[in-house]
Amino acid sequence: MADIKDNKQKKGPRLQSWLYIILFIGFGYILFFSKEDGSGLTGKASYTDFRNYMERGYVSRLVVYPNLGVMDMYIKPDSVKYVFPDVSYTQPFSKPMLTVGVGSLDNLQEFIDMSQEAGTFSGDVEYEKKSHTMMEILISILPFALLILFWILMTRHINGGSGAPGGGVFSVGKSKAKVYEKGSSDRVTFKDVAGQAEAKTEVEEIVEFLKNPKKYTDLGGKIPKGALLVGPPGTGKTLLAKAVAGEADVPFFSLSGSDFVEMFVGVGASRVRDLFRQAKEKAPCIIFIDEIDAVGRARGKNPAMGGNDERENTLNQLLTEMDGFGTNSGVIILAATNRVDILDKALLRAGRFDRQIHLDLPDLNERKAVFGVHLRNIKLSKDVDVDLLARQTPGFSGADIANVCNEAALIAARHNKKKVEKDDFLSAVDRIVGGLEKKTKVLTADEKRTIALHEAGHATLSWFLEYANPLIKVTIVPRGRALGAAWYLPEERQITTKEQMLDEMCATLGGRAAEELFTGHISTGAMNDLERVTKQAYGMIAYAGMSDRLANLCYYSSTDEYAFQKPYSDKTAELIDEEVKKLINEQYERGKKILLEHEEGHHRLAQLLIEREVIMAEDVERIFGKRPWASRSEEILEDGKKSSEPASVVENHDKVEP
Ligand code: ADP
Ligand code: ZN
Repeated sequence: MADIKDNKQKKGPRLQSWLYIILFIGFGYILFFSKEDGSGLTGKASYTDFRNYMERGYVSRLVVYPNLGVMDMYIKPDSVKYVFPDVSYTQPFSKPMLTVGVGSLDNLQEFIDMSQEAGTFSGDVEYEKKSHTMMEILISILPFALLILFWILMTRHINGGSGAPGGGVFSVGKSKAKVYEKGSSDRVTFKDVAGQAEAKTEVEEIVEFLKNPKKYTDLGGKIPKGALLVGPPGTGKTLLAKAVAGEADVPFFSLSGSDFVEMFVGVGASRVRDLFRQAKEKAPCIIFIDEIDAVGRARGKNPAMGGNDERENTLNQLLTEMDGFGTNSGVIILAATNRVDILDKALLRAGRFDRQIHLDLPDLNERKAVFGVHLRNIKLSKDVDVDLLARQTPGFSGADIANVCNEAALIAARHNKKKVEKDDFLSAVDRIVGGLEKKTKVLTADEKRTIALHEAGHATLSWFLEYANPLIKVTIVPRGRALGAAWYLPEERQITTKEQMLDEMCATLGGRAAEELFTGHISTGAMNDLERVTKQAYGMIAYAGMSDRLANLCYYSSTDEYAFQKPYSDKTAELIDEEVKKLINEQYERGKKILLEHEEGHHRLAQLLIEREVIMAEDVERIFGKRPWASRSEEILEDGKKSSEPASVVENHDKVEP
């Protein structure tokens, strides 16, 4: 990998410290030389003074420099007190001297002759040729040199601060792309990308074109110039783009949209130009722009902000470059984003990023495959079951899974194990989901009871609500900022019905409901629950059109048009508020009713939690009996028995807010 940035930065600091040293010495010189001689016995005098001193007989000797138009006038030691009245003359060996400008040499000579005749001057007169010494030249240009140096250092600093490569002012406009040369050692191929079968088929054509452009151009076909990889973070967009380059064995330029955004005007645009220039030199190749929304956000949609001109310039330059190169020049641009909706429409037009390739969070089988990829280099003990791991990580992205594998290896190493065991993976999953266990966080008995009642409330309700997600385990072990948590296995579903949402909401409110019913007071422990419920209720009413009084109305805009004004009247706003309150209240009352019906079981559950801190679905089943709608929870129970480990999905964290 040829990393332009790193190379330059290595050279940077050393050069910089040299510059500082020079600067320092320079200032020293100026201070030293610009000062008068310490004794005060040198200086300048006017021609009138000179004639005066000559007439009074103070002068001992004259040295004339005709080419410079000056002369040095040396003063007799016993006359120093008249010429330099402020200075007590204590150094007989230093020569008191004044420099005098000379107008006409003839006049000077005449005057000297006169003085000699008059007897006021009897010293020598020397004529010397003297040019400016090196030092004088240096001193005269030094201030300018220092200014220039200073400026360079300043601009370097500014660049350095924003992460620009070295080279100072002269390279701000250079692109900061990382270049992966072809045939480099860390080549990524489709083998390294697990799952994402559809996305892979889509990009295969691009690989094919890069490998064998003639096949397409001969038929007069045009290959897309760019494709947009769309998906949540960590789903492997960068990885896939790299794999395309790796498969086709072409160079890969990688940079992030935010690299273009710089404080200097015009820098972004010039970086874009530079990037495309470099890429064209290396064609066929791939340019990958991560987070393209940083530059590609829709232009000037937002009158209140006045628009960001610099970003718009950059975007315009990008569009120009994309239009500027021929379809068959062999440069293909891949860009990643997780929000296509906010991109400028001009970017998505034909001939630009007209293809969108969607990457989703992996499902069960894909997760298994991702584990497969990342477990290749890990020494596994026999008890590790990839199937189980995949089942316990719903909602995880590829990057999360990579993280789990790495974390598991670290945990195993910390315990000096020779191989990574199942427990290490489970701890890694827990840790990534919920942060570290806080063994040191001390709870008072009262707090512990409140948290247990709260968590038991969630557990009880989700047990008796048909559509609530099946429970896996409940804990009151503090972890990260959470005091307790109930873990569920969420169904991986594409659409959600109103009944499902209501049941979920009710279960989420179960914590607060249990607190109110059984401790007699409510606490901040439910804040996180309430936040989620409120958001969900607003979503149901204002966006999903799920209330009777605002049926089938959606005030959501997928294109952000409503960012600064609401698309509804104040009256409707009031109505929305009322409906939200009503909805949440209904579910809260419903939750309280169910809790009261199962009060005895709830209390046993809470007691068990206080004793054991962690309880499983089986324990809940022992108390309440089989779950009435237990298709999927049976599965969990069986898995649970088989593995005696819970699947780990946090659905409900009860955080304490600061
Ligand atoms: P994105 O660009 O979508 O945010 P990345 O491509 O940077 O995500 O993914 C980060 C890391 O996650 C990758 O380096 C890889 O280790 C892992 N990863 C993500 N998706 C996959 C996948 N489908 N197969 C294998 N590893 C993956
Ligand atoms: Zn809660």
